[in-house]
Amino acid sequence: MWRVTGLQAGAGPPDEILVTNTELHTDLRTAVRELCARFPDSYWRELDAQEAYPEEFVRTLTEAGYLAALIPEEFGGSGLGIAEASIILEEVNRSGGNSAACHAQLYIMGTLLRHGSEAQRRYYLPKIASGELRLQAFAVTEPTTGTDTTQMKTIAVRRGDRYVVNGQKVWISRVEHSDLMLLVARTTPLEEVKKRSEGLSVFLVDLGEAIGNGMTVRPIRAMINHASTEVFFDNLEVPVENRVGDEGQGFRYLLDGLNAERILIAAECVGDGRWFVERASRYARDRVVFGRPIGQNQGIQFPIARAHVNIEAADLMRIRAAELFDGGHPCGAEANMAKLLAADASWEAANVTMQTYGGFGFAQEYDIERKFRETRLYQTAPISTNLILSYIGQHVLDLPRSF
Ligand SMILES: Cc1cc2nc3c(=O)[nH]c(=O)nc-3n(C[C@H](O)[C@H](O)[C@H](O)COP(=O)(O)OP(=O)(O)OC[C@H]3O[C@@H](n4cnc5c(N)ncnc54)[C@H](O)[C@@H]3O)c2cc1C
Repeated sequence: MWRVTGLQAGAGPPDEILVTNTELHTDLRTAVRELCARFPDSYWRELDAQEAYPEEFVRTLTEAGYLAALIPEEFGGSGLGIAEASIILEEVNRSGGNSAACHAQLYIMGTLLRHGSEAQRRYYLPKIASGELRLQAFAVTEPTTGTDTTQMKTIAVRRGDRYVVNGQKVWISRVEHSDLMLLVARTTPLEEVKKRSEGLSVFLVDLGEAIGNGMTVRPIRAMINHASTEVFFDNLEVPVENRVGDEGQGFRYLLDGLNAERILIAAECVGDGRWFVERASRYARDRVVFGRPIGQNQGIQFPIARAHVNIEAADLMRIRAAELFDGGHPCGAEANMAKLLAADASWEAANVTMQTYGGFGFAQEYDIERKFRETRLYQTAPISTNLILSYIGQHVLDLPRSF
């Protein structure tokens, strides 16, 4: 289990100079990098071809304690901050791997930690920290309502000591590789609430019990190897004690976890971006056409240099957001900006690398096309670029609300 041995990160006031290279961070980077080196490109490439889950990688990461980074020490985790958790995911993606196989546990665990009952926290968190239970699935999105979360149709009706759930979710990832799933469902119909954000609740679903007993899972074949599924609820019964927090407050709990999610995804994008720039630079140095390395041509060199600049700039915003988050300061603007900048920068780096590789960028054995597909996701999920711009327009710039 990886434990804090160096400095604690990010407790300073918001105007403090950015400290990015503490001893703790350097040690952590080195340790994650060493672990990831045991899972080379070929490991991820074969899984991608077979649409298989990186079981061994996730088990190794869990056993090393990394997926328990944000769980407090009293519950068996490492008690680290978001800055450190983001370094873990960045290094996974920078190694050529894909954190999306397991990143959700880091941030959805926070809903249980912050809003779960004492009994839930004492029961579940140590088991999640040790790897005995996986909490990798989070079910929000629905086919008919998409981004407009408050319109969701899945409904949970209380009957005595149970809730009976009916409805459908889509794009729910890792359900088949998780023991637990956080489910957001409506407990009060939309027509009966004053504000549309009221009346949603969060439930912890025991997948071992639920699948085949009111819950059906259907895999979605997709552009990336993401273990995403459609989920159907037909009178699924969930015990009342599995509700997380108060009934009707689910939307608030959802929003509460978003900053952590944005910062962690930004870090993954930074990792992807650095992987692309390293690959593009190496290839541009080595590939000789017209009697000279293609990287000698500024038409090849400048786009790589620009991609590098944009990744480093995005990384500063990610570090800033993490620092504010860990210091307990508001960071909605910074977390959203970090995600937007990093997703754009990694996508730019992906395009530049494809171009640098010429035809070989399309060959699976070089891994560029795989990472290209993987990093494209972050323009759309877990939150699309448009919705981030809308957040900035409305909440940071006080522009009129559009929806
Ligand atoms: C691989 C993958 C894994 C996923 N994993 C999960 C998961 O584990 N759990 C989960 O709950 N969800 C998951 N999702 C769902 C993901 O969060 C949604 O796809 C995403 O939030 C967008 O929702 P949508 O697909 O319904 O798009 P829609 O809401 O239909 O939107 C379509 C497009 O229109 C844009 N748009 C919509 N309204 C506006 C507006 N008012 N202004 C400007 N633009 C707008 C959107 O930005 C988007 O680009 C996953 C998705 C994918 C692809």
